[in-house]
Amino acid sequence: MAGVGIGPGSAAGPVARMAPPPDLPPPRPVPAERAGEEVAAVLGALRDTAAELERRAAETTGSAAEVLAAQALMVADPALGDRAEALIRQPVRDDGGEGTDGPHALAAAFGEFRAALAAAGGYFAERVADLDDLRDRAVARLLRLPMPGLPEPGHPYVLVAADLAPADTALLDPSRVLALVTERGGPTSHTAILAKALGVPAVVGCAGAAQLTNGRRVLVDAAAGTVTADPAPRAVAEAAAREQRRRGRAAAVSGPGRTADGHPVRLLVNLGAMRELADGAAADSEGVGLFRTEFLYLDRETAPSVAEQVAAYREVFAAFAGRRVVVRTLDAGADKPLPFVTAAGQAEPEEQNPALGVRGLRTAARDGGKLLADQLAAIAEAVRGTDADVAVMAPMVSIAREAAEFAGRVRAHGLPLAGAMVEVPAAALRAAELAAACDFLSIGTNDLSQYAFAADRTLAGLAALLDPWQPALLDLVRMTAEAGARQGRPVGVCGEAAADPELALVLAGLGVSSLSMPPASLDPVRASLAAHTVDDCRGLAERALAAPDAATARAAVRTATREG
Ligand code: PEP
Ligand code: MG
Repeated sequence: MAGVGIGPGSAAGPVARMAPPPDLPPPRPVPAERAGEEVAAVLGALRDTAAELERRAAETTGSAAEVLAAQALMVADPALGDRAEALIRQPVRDDGGEGTDGPHALAAAFGEFRAALAAAGGYFAERVADLDDLRDRAVARLLRLPMPGLPEPGHPYVLVAADLAPADTALLDPSRVLALVTERGGPTSHTAILAKALGVPAVVGCAGAAQLTNGRRVLVDAAAGTVTADPAPRAVAEAAAREQRRRGRAAAVSGPGRTADGHPVRLLVNLGAMRELADGAAADSEGVGLFRTEFLYLDRETAPSVAEQVAAYREVFAAFAGRRVVVRTLDAGADKPLPFVTAAGQAEPEEQNPALGVRGLRTAARDGGKLLADQLAAIAEAVRGTDADVAVMAPMVSIAREAAEFAGRVRAHGLPLAGAMVEVPAAALRAAELAAACDFLSIGTNDLSQYAFAADRTLAGLAALLDPWQPALLDLVRMTAEAGARQGRPVGVCGEAAADPELALVLAGLGVSSLSMPPASLDPVRASLAAHTVDDCRGLAERALAAPDAATARAAVRTATREG
């Protein structure tokens, strides 16, 4: 059964499915005099559900805590309680008749919000699983039924679910859960993000998993994106031996990224929120390859002040003292809309295609360029007195002139290193001009795939087109790396592609000189590089480029590395 593989490695074991959600009892009419009581019980269930999630958020750290806190906020939204209350009271007010009972009112209120999210599509539609989970928890609490959630089979298991709720994924104990398989969910769903952070092999969007029943043995190969039911003992033994070798290699190497013959490939971390700072700084890396500064701006009515930014940047630079930190300037727009950015350009009509609209560096032209000027001033101020090796790069650069103007502005603030992200096919095609206009290039493979294949990066259904092994994407990487080399400018990769240990070999073979990834991916990528010479990497890159499609490219490289 095929799906989207998340993270490295493989595991085999018996299936245990998620406990089912609570069944709603038959409707129970609520007379007017009981409506108050019914409403109080519903509001209490919502409050208790939020409190429980907050408690669990406080007990965990990192992305798990972030997801749980976001869920607590969702369920605490007063609009939900208001809507359920209206459903309980409405018929009573209108005609003196009987209202809807609490559990049905609650489920209906969640249903309305769910429909709105699903209709919004993309990132929002992927949050539908969060809402379903919250509904089940709140309804179970109201009915005093056991909480739906993780199974307890009493032995290690492969967790199988239609779609995993973040609240459950956050509680997964990697020593009990051998692997994760979900029928739904895309590569950017919370399940995928958390599975990666936990280092548990996962296959999401695997429709065939619906047939898997408790106790059935499966082999989950995350690297291949496959789930095999009733695998042959030999296949399990081979996968286990491969997994042991992989873990052994990962544990054996440390320090700067190097191929077996000493060719350096810088290994860096991606940083997307201040709460990731401690783990990111503690990881064995040469610094930060992508500091996503959007988090300072999102969910706000006005831009953060320069002083506020200086404080945040200082904290990051201090944590990475003596190491490289690549700060990416604000990447707003599309799936990260900012009210004060869009409001600034009021002359613009509503965008029909936000991913193709005023986003990334394009927002810098808004509002007289004040947002970018303030951000560069804050970075320059924060750099003073730190010995972090700070560079600044712009997202969504399309043409060389933009890169040159950006580099000019960066240097005018006394910042020595300016780079351009290559996320738009036009930028890859003209990478030589871009490279000449600034100091380094960094390929954002997530957006580069989206724009090269005209495929929304948040849609699970388009995962095959967005597969970073697509030979056409690799062509664009090769072009960019070669152009950078001709201009004497380093070219890195900071999209998800950099986190795949086998693809990392191909990227190194194509001439990429740094890879930036989530901290959990550093060790497997480091080990993979250490096991191959730079010539091996070039050979693997040729195999991948020669393949007719992503699956063949991946298989060709896997076969070659296993033979070697
Ligand atoms: C990318 O597009 O690959 C990238 C690294 O930027 P982001 O994922 O933040 O858009
Ligand atoms: Mg991007």
